[in-house]
Amino acid sequence: MPEREIPLPTVLDPRGRTIGEEERAAVLRVLDSAVLCSAFGDEARSLEAEMARLYGRAHAVASSSGTAALHLAVVACGVGPGDEVVTTPISDFGTVAPVLAQGARPVFADVRAEDGNLDPDAVEAAMTPRTKAVIAVHLFGGAADTGRLRAVCDRHGVPLVEDCAQAWLAEDGAGRLLGTAGDIACFSLQQFKHITAGDGGLSLTDDPALARRMRLFMDKGWDRSEGRIHRETGLNYRMPELVAAVARAQLAKVEGVVRARRERAGRLIAALGGLEGVAVAGEPDGHAWWMFPLLVADNARWARELAAEGVPALPGYLERPLYANPAVPGDRPGLCPNAERLIGRTLLALPWNEAYSESDVDRLARALHRVHRRSGTR
Ligand SMILES: *Cc1c(COP(=O)(O)O)cnc(C)c1O
Repeated sequence: MPEREIPLPTVLDPRGRTIGEEERAAVLRVLDSAVLCSAFGDEARSLEAEMARLYGRAHAVASSSGTAALHLAVVACGVGPGDEVVTTPISDFGTVAPVLAQGARPVFADVRAEDGNLDPDAVEAAMTPRTKAVIAVHLFGGAADTGRLRAVCDRHGVPLVEDCAQAWLAEDGAGRLLGTAGDIACFSLQQFKHITAGDGGLSLTDDPALARRMRLFMDKGWDRSEGRIHRETGLNYRMPELVAAVARAQLAKVEGVVRARRERAGRLIAALGGLEGVAVAGEPDGHAWWMFPLLVADNARWARELAAEGVPALPGYLERPLYANPAVPGDRPGLCPNAERLIGRTLLALPWNEAYSESDVDRLARALHRVHRRSGTR
């Protein structure tokens, strides 16, 4: 019997978002100024400065989405028609859309079975003379092996882009912030992320040349200090001032959001201790818990039985690896066996939220224990 169902807070529910007085004041501040475009206001520029300071990096460029932030990165890395970008088959489509938009080819390297993050050996094997960049995703907020990926990229002389859309303030095993090892790190402020302004993106770098190319591509290739001449092309990926003002208020809350998610995750990990055949995917230390990823024997059955308990869970996170989407040319079933096994069989992603109470977590744990017990009896 499902327990009494008080629905868990979600990212589509005021209880599961940290939108409050600060965001309300921010919106009114911008409206009252009448300057809503960031080419003429200071909200987006201030957000960039605050983000750069938070991460200790020299430059931040704000844009209209995480996908846009990645497009800026890909363009700054010089990716064009016929080039290749090595990346993961398990991510949001926003990781590869910019590569396709540049007329380049995403090359998919397999992931590690234990956490769904890129396998550095597979990345090494996928490098060719046409490789122009590697995009690593820190899936669910758990660290990809940036040390080894950095070494592979350096050996081949290509830049490393970190897709941190799911990894706000996440750290690697050594306590180093994810988003500080790559040449560029990209973040998203979309509705489902740790913090949100509806949509929005941020790209970080220490390299002034990369920063300049990203800033130009964000604003139609227009260097406004020079007059009205376009020496290279760009798009309009500007972040509106209303969005930037909300994002600034949210950025001030991100530490608290991640801290609360970690506390709740720690409680669930303790409650699951020793459940045979069930493991947390990846290393809990430093994890930012965008979702709570588990490894089980049969993810479809677990998701079905958890749903009957009133507990939402995504079997596999995706329905198919990125390369199996019709929009990605050259579908090759079996290309990345670990990714296919995770999606089709073993990965179970629980939505996670800073607003989960201790009793919410305990209810989740009891539901997981019940499903586990049933799995032992057949
Ligand atoms: C959300 C997400 C994106 C895309 O961000 P948008 O803001 O939705 O464009 C890219 N990569 C990853 C890993 C994501 O989770």
